[in-house]
Amino acid sequence: MTNNFDAIVIGAGQAGPFLAVRLAAAGQRVAIIERGRFGGTCINTGCTPTKTLVASAYAMHLAGRAMEFGFEVAGPVRIDMKRVKARKDEITNRSSGGIESWLKSTQNCFVYQGQAQFESPNEVRVGDEVLAARQVFIDVGGRAATPSMPGVASTPYLTNSTLLDLDILPRHLVIVGGGYVGLEFAQIFRRFGSEVTIIEKAPRLIGHEDEDVSTQAQSILEHEGVQIRLNANCIELMRSGEGVGVRVDCADGAPEVIGSHILLAMGRTPNTGDLGLDKAGVIRDARGYIVVDDQLRTNVTGIWALGDCNGRGGFTHTSYNDFEIVAANLLDRETRSVADRIRAYNLYIDPPIGRCGMTEHEARASGRHVLIGRRPMTRVARAIEKGETQGFMKVLVDADSKQILGATIFGTGGDEVIHCVLDMMYARAPYTVMQRAMHIHPTVSELIPTMLGELQPL
Ligand SMILES: Cc1cc2nc3c(=O)[nH]c(=O)nc-3n(C[C@H](O)[C@H](O)[C@H](O)COP(=O)(O)OP(=O)(O)OC[C@H]3O[C@@H](n4cnc5c(N)ncnc54)[C@H](O)[C@@H]3O)c2cc1C
Repeated sequence: MTNNFDAIVIGAGQAGPFLAVRLAAAGQRVAIIERGRFGGTCINTGCTPTKTLVASAYAMHLAGRAMEFGFEVAGPVRIDMKRVKARKDEITNRSSGGIESWLKSTQNCFVYQGQAQFESPNEVRVGDEVLAARQVFIDVGGRAATPSMPGVASTPYLTNSTLLDLDILPRHLVIVGGGYVGLEFAQIFRRFGSEVTIIEKAPRLIGHEDEDVSTQAQSILEHEGVQIRLNANCIELMRSGEGVGVRVDCADGAPEVIGSHILLAMGRTPNTGDLGLDKAGVIRDARGYIVVDDQLRTNVTGIWALGDCNGRGGFTHTSYNDFEIVAANLLDRETRSVADRIRAYNLYIDPPIGRCGMTEHEARASGRHVLIGRRPMTRVARAIEKGETQGFMKVLVDADSKQILGATIFGTGGDEVIHCVLDMMYARAPYTVMQRAMHIHPTVSELIPTMLGELQPL
């Protein structure tokens, strides 16, 4: 049986549902296919659940500092993982359920639950049915990568998804991978009371960031008791007695780390291997990402790829922005392009790292005349008042054009403050506009104009 539609959307993650509803509202007959939970990675196993845990961990951390703030907690601060998980589940279930009922109640939108696979460029099978449409939008996201390292097949390990199902506290969580996901989980579980070790094969954590950012993040985590093993050049997983272990083979230190649980946080793999893309003729790159142009069209006319599966973003906001670009181009007669967006993201350790535009390293390599402004959080009144003075901020400016090139706000409130720099970059306004703006006291943001008034050559 073939069902004909104007559009088929594969995946109800962070681009698919919004696009399906937009197309349906424009009068198109739309099918959306989801094989798992509505809302995809972000809502079920990514942003939302981890940020609920970040909130629990932060509250617990502050409770542990009670005396500093002038109050006492009756008895020791102890984690109740069942309640932490119940809070997390309540928030994610509500969000996922909201998307499901929104889609199912949208006129012209038909929801299919199951695995989607192409039969041809304009036909997609789901279960016993074949759906046909002149436009197909792929939003299949990704999953935790499990590199083929020694011991991986014979040793139990967790991923971001399965770790979030635990309602017990790991005694010793060994995290393989010192990237964004690894660092967030490391601090969360350390604050909950687990022993935590991060094993990273590179010489520093979060290697895409500037060295001062990596060093500061490492020092914050170590200060809280997270063990960090860098330069782990021969990682191997193994069972060890009642627990599990990771062979590290570092130049110095113990040759292996024994723990109760292993978390693999070694990057993501796009969900493009079981989509039947060969039957549609859609090209993927060597890492499995669907190749798209700046308007997110694949090599096959009538097929687009949005979100994590196109390798152009990797965040919820990039996935959602992909939806906005495609919808504007198709429905609003605009010509929007992914090339126009400015890289921006946060790392939700505490204090958070807000980032936009170029790193210092990239600015230096760009060959421009660059100015830099820096300020440690110890010189930010609001941070002092909150008792949260770890971190620093820095902003990079092109000396000739006066345009802001990028910024890092690594400190309390940095996840929100970064947007005032980001919006200046989108406005393409010279930095002097912000330097002269009157910001509100006491905030972290009030020091950005000050920092811009103290620029020095890089
Ligand atoms: C631990 C963790 C924390 C994160 N935290 C943040 C954060 O704080 N901020 C942020 O911006 N990003 C964060 N991310 C990244 C964010 O989750 C993703 O970038 C985002 O979910 C991508 O959305 P998407 O729509 O591209 O894909 P997804 O959200 O992965 O959705 C894809 C959907 O497609 C479905 N699907 C796949 N294949 C098929 C098929 N063949 N048939 C039918 N359905 C299919 C899947 O079931 C899924 O529901 C985090 C990720 C992780 C792992």
